[in-house]
Amino acid sequence: MRFCPKCGTRMQLAKEESGEFLICPRCGYKARLEGDLLVPVAKLQKSPRDKITVIREEEARLRTLPTVQVECPRCGNNQAYFWQVQTRSSDESATQFFRCTRCGYTWREYG
Ligand SMILES: [Zn+2]
Ligand SMILES: [Zn+2]
Repeated sequence: MRFCPKCGTRMQLAKEESGEFLICPRCGYKARLEGDLLVPVAKLQKSPRDKITVIREEEARLRTLPTVQVECPRCGNNQAYFWQVQTRSSDESATQFFRCTRCGYTWREYG
C-alpha cells in the first residue's frame, strides 16, 4: 500500500497500456513503481508547444521521425512522418512508410 507524497491519500493501482501505475484519487498524482521506488509520472499536457510536455511513448517515438511533404490519401493533409523498413534481403529496396501528422493514417510505398 502506498500513500500519495503530496496529500497523503491512499493511492490506487491503475493498469494502463504502458504498465501499472499508482494514482492518487484525490489530487491526481500519478507514479510508477520501479522496484520499491515511486517514480512520478508527469501528466499529459495538451499544448504541443510546451517543451517539457511529457507525451505518450508512441507520440514520443513519432516526434523523433522526420517529416516530409506528401499528401495524405485520407484527409489531404500534406505533411507526414516517414521512416523506412529494410526487408530481409538487402537487394530489395526498403519500404517507405508514411504517417499523416494530422489524422495519423499510415500507409506505405515501395521503392
Ligand atoms: Zn494526492
Ligand atoms: Zn491524414
